[in-house]
Amino acid sequence: ETAASSEVKPRILLMGLRRSGKSSIQKVVFHKVSPNETLFLESTNKIVKEDVTNSSFVCFQIWDLPGHLDYFDSTFDAENIFGSYGALIFVIDAQDDYMDALQKLHVTVTRVYKINPGIKFEVFIHKVDGLSDDHKIEAQRDIHQRACDDLIDAGLENVHLSFYLTSIYDHSIFEAFSKVVQKLIPQLPTLENLLNILISNSGIEKAFLFDVVSKIYIATDSSPVDMQSYELCCDMIDVVIDVSCIYGEEEYWLGIESNRSQRNAIGRDDSIFDTQSSSVIKLNNGTVLYLREVNRYLALVCILRVDSFDRQGLIDYNFLCFQQAIQEVFELRKKSKLPDMAQNNM
Ligand code: GDP
Repeated sequence: ETAASSEVKPRILLMGLRRSGKSSIQKVVFHKVSPNETLFLESTNKIVKEDVTNSSFVCFQIWDLPGHLDYFDSTFDAENIFGSYGALIFVIDAQDDYMDALQKLHVTVTRVYKINPGIKFEVFIHKVDGLSDDHKIEAQRDIHQRACDDLIDAGLENVHLSFYLTSIYDHSIFEAFSKVVQKLIPQLPTLENLLNILISNSGIEKAFLFDVVSKIYIATDSSPVDMQSYELCCDMIDVVIDVSCIYGEEEYWLGIESNRSQRNAIGRDDSIFDTQSSSVIKLNNGTVLYLREVNRYLALVCILRVDSFDRQGLIDYNFLCFQQAIQEVFELRKKSKLPDMAQNNM
């Protein structure tokens, strides 16, 4: 491994008390394990390291750090574990009494911040599927307040923590992970900019650039994300994958083999990949979902009105410009010169 490639591979550390849900999160997001199958996961006893290299954008290492170990005693090299560029996700079980977890969060944040002030601290208030909406808001407020008060008392008011309500039983875990990953993608502003140009010139309402295998979206345009649109797009990806696995001529679609639990992409023949493929789903409320493959790992999923879709030629033309620009961002060349898109004069 060269210095350059390790430089661009951020590390995401999963921490939290035992049974808070760390391994389940990793299994559900990156291994397509269904949430119910996590009920009987064996607790991890040692650090589990995994490379997620399914796309050049979503390219990081994820480390599952078991909750019962003390990483700051002399048996561990804390500098090495926490010293590199990346994020620390601290998982708190919201269905349990979370005072111990908060204590552990505080110790972790204060120690890790000293080693690596650049690390991003992300707090997943997890298993919220068991909580009512009021209870969720209250838990988030309470945890936020206590964690920040503790930091202020320790003289660390500059340390920033981000909070997310998550559950493996719905899309919230994918959404939260998307946001964590996005913060680690240096090209994010460029990608957002390209998506903004694409949607405003094509009459599209919302567009997500997905890493298909993980269903993490690595960028979206700057209009606000509502959970329902994100879920629709995730569901579309699942439908398209299922249909291609059953009826597709190729054994692979976007790096996903017909056997979806088998994600080893080594030895894959690039020539079977077809970047022309697209799918359209028309909903009976006048909304169209339009999916286009960008490259072997990324897909663009757009939400638009059916009358905007009448101009599919324009959208397709602009998509090609977008695809080419993404390619250039990928290859980190011609960074400033972007192709001109056709105007939508509607
Ligand atoms: P770890 O020790 O932190 O790795 O925790 P595990 O991943 O082994 O999870 C412990 C238990 O929590 C398992 O029985 C999971 O099924 C359960 N769990 C994990 N995530 C969720 C969630 O979002 N909601 C609910 N209700 N249970 C969860």
